[in-house]
Amino acid sequence: MSTFKEFNLSNQLNYAIDDLGFVNPTPIQEKSFPVILSGKDMVGIAQTGTGKTFAYMLPILRELKFSKQLTPRVLVLVPTRELVLQVVEEIEKLSTYINVRVLGVYGGTNINTQKQAIAQGIDIIVATPGRLYDLALSRALKLKSMQKLVIDEVDVMLDLGFRFQLMNIFEILPERRQNIMFSATMTDDVEKLINDYFIVPEKISIAVSGTPLDNISQQGYSVPNFYTKVNLLIHLLKDKDEFNKVLVFVSNKKSADRLFEALQEIYDSELCVIHSNKTQNYRIRSIRQFDAGENRILVATDVMARGLDLDEISHVINFDTPSFPENYMHRIGRTGRAEHEGKTILFFTEREKQLKESIEGLMKYEIPTIEFPIEVEISDQLTPEERPKEVEINNPHKKNDLDAPGPAFHEKSEKNSKTNQGGSYRREIAKKYKKPKTRGDKNYNKRNKKK
Ligand code: AMP
Repeated sequence: MSTFKEFNLSNQLNYAIDDLGFVNPTPIQEKSFPVILSGKDMVGIAQTGTGKTFAYMLPILRELKFSKQLTPRVLVLVPTRELVLQVVEEIEKLSTYINVRVLGVYGGTNINTQKQAIAQGIDIIVATPGRLYDLALSRALKLKSMQKLVIDEVDVMLDLGFRFQLMNIFEILPERRQNIMFSATMTDDVEKLINDYFIVPEKISIAVSGTPLDNISQQGYSVPNFYTKVNLLIHLLKDKDEFNKVLVFVSNKKSADRLFEALQEIYDSELCVIHSNKTQNYRIRSIRQFDAGENRILVATDVMARGLDLDEISHVINFDTPSFPENYMHRIGRTGRAEHEGKTILFFTEREKQLKESIEGLMKYEIPTIEFPIEVEISDQLTPEERPKEVEINNPHKKNDLDAPGPAFHEKSEKNSKTNQGGSYRREIAKKYKKPKTRGDKNYNKRNKKK
């Protein structure tokens, strides 16, 4: 294990760390420190609680020279107001003995007060995307000196629909800057953002080997489709003593709603759901009810459930197989805590088999497959995503699907099968009227008339 000494920090930073009582850097701090210091773009996969705020702030503060300039040099974007406050607080703790000006800005509060604070001069600004963009557009905040952009909780940011806000901000930031991103989960959206906007950032993730697999029993069911998964889940949940606190993971909002709808009739009062389209109050209420044991079943997306600290979960059900194996580790890490044997069950379709194999590769453990219970009905109902793509003919509202298979071979129509012999028009007319019919040469006709 390394120590903070190896980071070669200034005395002032070391004093602050001592005051905080930190002895060793956390794994994410250890790994990201040299990368951030090198100036390369970086994506860190780390959850809240891993020390990620200091993971980016330590190298940034080490390099940030004292300056009297008014325009900020470091921008930290976070998805929520709460996080703005939390990050500002963490930076302040670290900068007790150094002269650094930090400001947190977020929406829903008076923008003029924030403009005045900016005018005083700042080094680091921590912001939610909407408010930051408004401040930049109003010209109260100048971004021309920005050297480092940190986006924290990228997954939540995208899940809350901030993609366009982020793109707008990228446009107005100086091109020469370092990009540092942190995300608790790797999702398709996060990967797309990275591929679209960043040049091969270095990816850092902390070893998942820390997940105590030993006290989690894992099982898998091969299931043909979504609605058969629903039937299987309903079947399992019948055993209320065994399945007494169940966290069901799905990878996106649409599936979460679809599953919730399918279960609602049967499990109405025992069921709750959390995903980012639900209001914060609704989510907090759901989590509280589930944690207190008032609701037996919680359906959640990966992004929303990260960082959930829920006690005594009897089962984690992976209703679908995550595309990123790390997400499986995060999911099952919700069970099997503190000397308590956890249980997890994975539902996988034929299509998801490969994803299951990547997870097994990461864990170096093969998930035992249980025989599908015969009493569970196999559904032939398919979700829109599961249905084979139909080729629509002559729908003017639909663009042609270039990947769709073309029409089968058929004989050419009579018209198209003709070979070009030249002068076809004249020949056709001649056939019809038995004599050549042309408009003729005007002058020739004139000449002949006169004769
Ligand atoms: P974060 O993941 O940034 O939300 O940090 C989680 C908590 O860990 C915060 O309260 C930090 O103050 C604390 N922390 C950060 N780095 C360390 C460290 N090296 N040792 C002990 N605690 C830390």
